[in-house]
Amino acid sequence: MTKEEEIPDWVGAKEFYDKYEPKEILGRGVSSVVRRCVNKRTSQEYAVKIIDITSSDKMTPQEIEEIREATVKEIDILKKVCGQENIIQLKDCYESKAFFFLVFDLMKKGELFDYLTEKVTLTEKETRKIMRALLKVVEYLHAQNIVHRDLKPENILLDDNMNIKLTDFGFAVQLQPGQTLKEVFGTPGYLAPEIIECSMDAGHLGYGTAVDIWSAGVIMYTLLAGSPPFWHRKQMLMLRMVLAGKYDFSSPEWEDCSDTAKDLVKAISRMLVVNPQHRFTATDALNHSFFSQYVLNEVRQFSPYRRFKVICMTVLATMRIYCNYRRAKPVTTEVIKSDPYAVKPIRKLIDACAFRIYGHWVKKGLTQNRAALFENSPKAILLSLATEAEEQAQQSW
Ligand code: ADP
Ligand code: MG
Repeated sequence: MTKEEEIPDWVGAKEFYDKYEPKEILGRGVSSVVRRCVNKRTSQEYAVKIIDITSSDKMTPQEIEEIREATVKEIDILKKVCGQENIIQLKDCYESKAFFFLVFDLMKKGELFDYLTEKVTLTEKETRKIMRALLKVVEYLHAQNIVHRDLKPENILLDDNMNIKLTDFGFAVQLQPGQTLKEVFGTPGYLAPEIIECSMDAGHLGYGTAVDIWSAGVIMYTLLAGSPPFWHRKQMLMLRMVLAGKYDFSSPEWEDCSDTAKDLVKAISRMLVVNPQHRFTATDALNHSFFSQYVLNEVRQFSPYRRFKVICMTVLATMRIYCNYRRAKPVTTEVIKSDPYAVKPIRKLIDACAFRIYGHWVKKGLTQNRAALFENSPKAILLSLATEAEEQAQQSW
């Protein structure tokens, strides 16, 4: 090999290390490490995703080649979606024979996953803000026939103002008109039923962009309830629950019967529809009353008529609160002693304390899941026993 042919093997890495100084690890994937890094000239901080494409004992040359091809695709898609405000911006990228270096804006607040673990559950208002932004990103991607295929709270980062930035386009693909996909990609708890079906049926017609809406529905449910809609210690049983679209709104978080809460349950139910043809699109979801109401701009621009209406409504609401307050049953020590979990503020306190103690246990893995921290309610235990009994009965046939 001549000297000129050798240069491309390391020149990309040298360019990266000349310009940036890598610092501590922010996150890890199967074949990548994400580190904070600093631009040596400007002292500006970034995040660099370093993808290892050297052959090792762990990976065959074919697997390495697949990772290389996937990374080239990831870079291509990241360049195509550059400029959308809720998608992470690729600032620079370098390639050498052994590594890829993808430099992104640094998201100091980290993952939505960790934020949720800290908060246990999010409020309707916060969920609406996050989900509206996520659905707008998904609408934007789907308009270009791009399917992300790995939407989950670990791949949603938060900027300094708590705005979301979607990242990790490693499984993303741009479809040709009429093209469908069959490969099984994604993370088990977020997989749409049609992806699982593809793994079981070689003659399946394939799946398309609708798989992202399913994952978005799972995310929305998880943000509000704290635990995911589909979970079982045995992965096979969890996948079976997904295929049957078997989930419920039984956790106490759903008991609030306000109109917005009902709206929200309807919105989630339309995203978690097993048949992708009948599932909401991103645009349908954004037009749903849960998302279309309460747009800040609308609320701010009051006409004199609306101002009058708001004053009347405020007076009526105040009177209603006053009357309800007089009628409301006090929370006595008996109520607290007999069923403390039924009292919302106490429930939040108990969950928050449990998460503070066991939060470190909520990991991003197949066997450990935040759902496990919620599963010790009588209802969840019964559901789990029933599913296991059903499984045993089916096996004995
Ligand atoms: P993988 O494909 O290996 O999952 P990701 O692109 O999802 O790689 O990055 C892995 C993790 O690294 C993320 O879940 C996140 O915790 C962290 N990370 C990635 N990009 C950034 C960034 N721009 N700012 C801060 N942390 C990041
Ligand atoms: Mg990731």
